[in-house]
Amino acid sequence: MTGMTQPGAVNAHTHLYSGLAPLGLPAPAKEPESFVQILESIWWRLDRALDEPSLRASARYYIGEALLAGTTGLVDHHESPNFIEGSLDVIADACQDMGVRAVLCYGATERNGGREEAKRGLLEGRRFIKANRRPLVKGVIGLHAGFTVSDETIREAGNLCRELDTVLHVHVAEDASDVADARDRGYTDPVDRLVKLGALPEGSILAHGIHLTPSQVRMAADRGAWFVQNPRSNRGNKVGYPSALNQTDRVALGSDGYPAVMSDELDVFREEAEAHGDLPARGQKALVQGRTLLESFFADVIDNDTVTQERGEPLPRRVTVGGKAVVKDGRLVTADLHAVRNDAQREAVVLWERMRALA
Ligand SMILES: [Zn+2]
Repeated sequence: MTGMTQPGAVNAHTHLYSGLAPLGLPAPAKEPESFVQILESIWWRLDRALDEPSLRASARYYIGEALLAGTTGLVDHHESPNFIEGSLDVIADACQDMGVRAVLCYGATERNGGREEAKRGLLEGRRFIKANRRPLVKGVIGLHAGFTVSDETIREAGNLCRELDTVLHVHVAEDASDVADARDRGYTDPVDRLVKLGALPEGSILAHGIHLTPSQVRMAADRGAWFVQNPRSNRGNKVGYPSALNQTDRVALGSDGYPAVMSDELDVFREEAEAHGDLPARGQKALVQGRTLLESFFADVIDNDTVTQERGEPLPRRVTVGGKAVVKDGRLVTADLHAVRNDAQREAVVLWERMRALA
């Protein structure tokens, strides 16, 4: 068929740092026997080996293949423990240069260097969000996963989200060990922990959610969180099927580091859904929802919810331009409205006088 178009696909959770994996990633010395062993023997070795040139090559290779497959939006989750500061600029430059829309974060963790490492990861996110001016790229705050960070780090991530008016992107309940870890720390589950530590702002992105109960998924969705289902990765890592995600429409499709060919991801979604008694049609819905998720970072949106301002008329509670809030709680946040109005009054008087004096 010619002359037909469709919107570009969105990969709502991926890892550009693993972009070189299809080019001969070395197999682990010993066959991993659990999800954590897969992380330890493969991905946590790859991320420690990354430097600036390999990260750049990885990101550019991944983006090139993504665009060729019709994937025009990427939500990335990045870690390179031996190249933290400036790493998000390397990825962002690759996205902007090659022309892919992207939402980036640094996944702060304590697993290599404790709290110091986590602070550096969070600061890289903050630095990037404040400095980034690339029109195709937005930054958010990231945490690796609950089981590799302390309560202090989660609390700090929540504070940064509030300071920078942004959201959190984090792996949640990808493996049962993440849920067990949250329980050991005195919480019912990883979502409960994020909520209690003030780190689940509306619009946050929770990758996986495999080992959550239906009520835990509903609680997160009611708070405006997004879930991302990653069928190929879940099957490859044998971590289980996220049955409880059928509790919400706020589910997008991600490849979790696999190449961003979303038609392949959709095929595996359908196979896995059928095999687990779930609705295969949820896959297409998740693909569409990925675009909604991405648009929330770039679009111009007005809340239907209104507040009554000093002049008496109802005004939108929140107005967002290019994904950035310009009005919050009915108040302009991009300028001092009082000063703007005073300047206008003063200049108007002077201007009308000059106008009258003109012949
Ligand atoms: Zn992931």
